[in-house]
Amino acid sequence: MNVKTLVAGNWKMNKTLDESISFIEALSHIPVPQCEVLLAVPFIYLKPLQDIAPKWLTIAAQNISDKEQGAYTGEISAKMLQSISIKSTLIGHSERRQYYGETNAVIKEKLQQAFQNAVMPILCIGETLDERKNNLTEHVIENQLASVLTKADANKSLHIAYEPVWAIGTGETATKEQAEAMHHFIYNWLKENISETFAQQTKILYGGSCNTQNAEELFSMPHIHGGLVGGASLDVDSFKLLIEIGNTITNKNN
Ligand code: PEP
Repeated sequence: MNVKTLVAGNWKMNKTLDESISFIEALSHIPVPQCEVLLAVPFIYLKPLQDIAPKWLTIAAQNISDKEQGAYTGEISAKMLQSISIKSTLIGHSERRQYYGETNAVIKEKLQQAFQNAVMPILCIGETLDERKNNLTEHVIENQLASVLTKADANKSLHIAYEPVWAIGTGETATKEQAEAMHHFIYNWLKENISETFAQQTKILYGGSCNTQNAEELFSMPHIHGGLVGGASLDVDSFKLLIEIGNTITNKNN
């Protein structure tokens, strides 16, 4: 079962190296959290931040190549991440899908690359506003899952981030009921199509304008196991507060 809330930040394409180092140094002073904490940072900061990060903080990538190795200029492979001891990455973030044309087929390859190289993926899925308005939300989510995961993956581990596209960076958050309904739907899909154990072991994070004001009520819902947080992870004080919320919920659940 998922006992620890996961607070995951996604810096996207923000911060200089100096700003990144100051953030990690400031974060290092807090007591060891009871919840899990992860930060997805730009590729070039992975190694310097990994070198100074406290043990409890997972430094993760924001993307990987769908290819194993070779003539793919500008790409970074899962194997390269493994070689510098980076153990997690986002895959299929809606900004990758929207601005860089990532299809479910490409995302499936990326997932397999992550699995083969012991890099824990956080698979991002979510519907657009149009899709929600047209009652296509469940259909879209089911398709995003069914296109990339099969029963053959039952012995693998991943986290899923449910991130309604209309809520990312917009200040508009799904209500806790809307989010819980979709998380429950995802849990049931995993249970029916992969396995019950797989569903129970997969953390399903909520993402989309999650912040210090709404995190507690979202993370308290039964099928919400934490959050993937963009904007609110850029400020160290706000990220510390999110970790405190993660601690509170983790303590409540144990
Ligand atoms: C994200 O980057 O995954 C995200 C949810 O961003 P924001 O919290 O800014 O909406």
